[in-house]
Amino acid sequence: MSDSSSIDPEEIRTWQAKIQQANRNNLLCHCQVCDREWVSSRPEPCSCGSRQVESIACWQFPDG
Ligand SMILES: [Zn+2]
Repeated sequence: MSDSSSIDPEEIRTWQAKIQQANRNNLLCHCQVCDREWVSSRPEPCSCGSRQVESIACWQFPDG
């Protein structure tokens, strides 16, 4: 069961689609100036005008 060569290509495609979807829609942005946090589809400057924004893809977070 641990043989990685036996992974179903269909499963990999599903994964890639999920990651792309997460990248598009679940980017957690955090402004280092005003401490605002929001979810966006892409990295963007904060509404306070700061460009010191950290962006983290939500799917990178461990799932409890
Ligand atoms: Zn800000």
